[in-house]
Amino acid sequence: MKQPGEFELIERLCRDLPYGRRTLLGPGDDCAVLAPTRRPQLFTIDSMVEGVHFELAWLSPEQLGERALAVNLSDIAAMGGSPRSCVVNLGIRKGLGAAFFDRLYRGLGRAARAAGVDVVGGNITRSAQLTLTVALLGEVAGQVLRRDTARSGDEIFVTGTLGDSALGWRIMAGEIEARGAARKYLVDRFVAPQARLGAGRKLARMRPAPAAIDISDGLLADLGHIMERSRVGAEVDLAAIPYSRHYLAVAGDRADLALSGGEDYELLFCLRPGHSAPVLSRRLGVAVHRVGRIVERRHGLRLRRGDGRLVPASGMLGWDQLGVDP
Ligand SMILES: [Mg+2]
Repeated sequence: MKQPGEFELIERLCRDLPYGRRTLLGPGDDCAVLAPTRRPQLFTIDSMVEGVHFELAWLSPEQLGERALAVNLSDIAAMGGSPRSCVVNLGIRKGLGAAFFDRLYRGLGRAARAAGVDVVGGNITRSAQLTLTVALLGEVAGQVLRRDTARSGDEIFVTGTLGDSALGWRIMAGEIEARGAARKYLVDRFVAPQARLGAGRKLARMRPAPAAIDISDGLLADLGHIMERSRVGAEVDLAAIPYSRHYLAVAGDRADLALSGGEDYELLFCLRPGHSAPVLSRRLGVAVHRVGRIVERRHGLRLRRGDGRLVPASGMLGWDQLGVDP
């Protein structure tokens, strides 16, 4: 049962949200009404829970709103699509007032406007922790990038650099120390991830459509999802993992955050052999690095160490065994 105060709050929060021509009826009724579309629709959902995914001390309310949308945009990017409409569920706890949610929705509205997304409705519920859930619709103009189309022999590429966000998270948690420009860069990579929507759409124009996934759980875990769905194995070349200079300055030779830290929101994709990373970087408008290749399923996931030896990823206990200087 909703309290009257919550009705008022949601009405107020939705007042300035963007919605345009493809929304026939926006917030305020039992459902939103969207204009029909002829294109295949993408539909995704993601939650951010206080104490699990973030602490309030780490982000401003505006940044929280922006980030809640960004993590969903990344899933649309990973399919090669364009985001269109979203609904939001807010789990609110005691101690947070209307001013907080005004700011949160200001950030959400700003991010939605920037991405061309209509916020068409929402719900508010009482909750033990602050929770933000966004369900996002998108559409694809051409092919869909899937996880189940990788083939043995494909080369594996990633956009951007890895591990920055996981390192930023640990800096904010006080586990790792960093100052100045490095601290700001790494913390920003956690706070304000940029979904690779443009790169995803350009990948969707390639023939055959690359297998792709966004890196939210970490390179190895998300590559594992491709392996499972495509029934293939993979080799990752540890010396080829792309690090930012700030990551190297702060984390030194720690490879673990880049391999399994998560929250990178970069794209991982698999192409038939013969593509050059510099050419792909220009084409996709973002730095691209080749990090390994798809092999037959029976090989599982193996890591190529700095000395050229292949070791099974599952058998590794400590990162000091990798023999790699990032
Ligand atoms: Mg994803």
